[in-house]
Amino acid sequence: MECLKTAITSREISLERAKQLKSKIQDYLDVKDSIPKGMAEKFIEKKQDLKQKMLSLFNATESDWDDWQWQLENRIADVDTLTKIISLTDSEIEAVKSVGKEFRWGVSPYYLSLVDENSKYCPIKLLSIPTSIELAPSDGLIDPMAEEFTNPAGSITRRYPDRLIINVTNECAMYCRHCQRRRNIGGTDNHVSRAKLQESVDYIRDNPEIRDVLITGGDAFALPDSTIDWLLGELYAIDSLEYIRLGTRTLVTMPQRISENLLSILKKYPPIYVNTHFNHPIEITKESKEACEKLANAGISIGNQAVLLNGINNDKFVMRLLNHEMLKIRVRPYYIFHAKKIIGTTHFNTSIDDGIEIMEYLRGYTSGMAIPTYIVNATGGKGKTPLFPNYLISRGKNNIKIRTWEGEVINYPNYPTVPIEEFIE
Ligand code: SF4
Repeated sequence: MECLKTAITSREISLERAKQLKSKIQDYLDVKDSIPKGMAEKFIEKKQDLKQKMLSLFNATESDWDDWQWQLENRIADVDTLTKIISLTDSEIEAVKSVGKEFRWGVSPYYLSLVDENSKYCPIKLLSIPTSIELAPSDGLIDPMAEEFTNPAGSITRRYPDRLIINVTNECAMYCRHCQRRRNIGGTDNHVSRAKLQESVDYIRDNPEIRDVLITGGDAFALPDSTIDWLLGELYAIDSLEYIRLGTRTLVTMPQRISENLLSILKKYPPIYVNTHFNHPIEITKESKEACEKLANAGISIGNQAVLLNGINNDKFVMRLLNHEMLKIRVRPYYIFHAKKIIGTTHFNTSIDDGIEIMEYLRGYTSGMAIPTYIVNATGGKGKTPLFPNYLISRGKNNIKIRTWEGEVINYPNYPTVPIEEFIE
C-alpha cells in the first residue's frame, strides 16, 4: 500500500515536471509556424511561377533546369535579365547596377526561384541580390583573417597543426552578398591550375602530420567532375591522410549539382565529409533535401556551417528551427560562425550577444545534436575560438559552482582524478 502511494506521488511529480518543461518551449511553439520554410505549400507554388518564367525566358526545358551545368551557365548576373524575372523598384535597380561595378554578383536560376519579390526582408533576396548598403562607408576589411600569410605552398591555407585547406576555385553557383571570402571572388571565374593543385598535394605528402584536408573555394563542387576525381584520387593515395572534406554551398544554391556521376566519384574515396552552408529554413526545399539525402545515402556525412547574419538568422527561434529542419534532411548543425567585418557586408554583422543568446536558447531546449558550436574567428588568422554562455561560475578546491540550462546555480563535486593504477593492481 505504501509502495502504491509512492508510485502515484512519483507520477504526479513527473507530470508536473513535464508540464513545466512543455511551458519552457511554448514561446517557440507559438512562433515556429510563422517562420518562412522552404517546404511550405504556398512557398512551393510561388517558386514554381518564377521557375516557369525563367524556363520560358531562357527557352529551356525541365531537363535543362535539372542539369547543374545549365544552372551554372545561366546564372543571372545582369540587371536586364534580373528585372525580366523579378520586379524591382527603380532605386533597387540602380543599387544592383552600382554595386555590380564594385562587387561581382550572380545567382543561379534555382536560387532566384526561391525569392519572394514582394518582401524587402526576404532572406533569399537579401542573400542574393545586391543592395546599396554594400557601398555605404564601413569599417569592413578585405582580409581580416590574414589568409595571404598562411599559404606555405600551392593554393593551401594552413592555420592549424594537423589540417589544412586546399583552395581550388573562386567560382560559386551564387555570389552570396554576405560572402566572407569576397576578396577571392574577383571579376571572373578561375579554377586553380593543375600545377598549383599538384604542388598542394605534394606539400601534403611531404608533411605527414597533416591528417585532414578541406577542399574548398569558392565552391569545391564548381569544379568539373574530372578534376574532383583526379584531386581526390591524388589525395586518397597519401597514407597519412585520414579523410577528406569538401566545402560546398551547392546543396543550397544549386542542388542539381549532386548528379549520379558526382556521387559515383565521391563513393570511391571514403571517408568523405561535406561541409555546407544553410542559413535559413527557407533554403531547405524539396530539391535541397533530395541532394542531401543522395549524399547521405552514398555514405557521406554532411555538416552545416551557418553564418550568423543580421536580419536573416540572428533570432533564437529561427536558428533553432533551422537546426531542426537540417537534421530532418540528414545535415548535422556543426558551426555558427560569427560574421567577420568584411568590406561590403557589414550590414549583416551582429553583436556577439545575439550569438550567445542563440546558444543560451539551444542548450537544454533542444537535443545536443541540434546544437552547433558558436565560433568567432580570431582576427589575424589566429583560429576558431568557441564562445558559450557561461555555465561554470566558479572553480574551487574539490567543488565547482555551475549554472544549469534553466538558470539554477548548484554546487558540484570536483575531486582530483585518482590514477587508475590505484584501483587495479
Ligand atoms: S558559396 Fe561560399 S564562397 Fe561562394 S559566394 Fe557564397 S559564401 Fe562565398
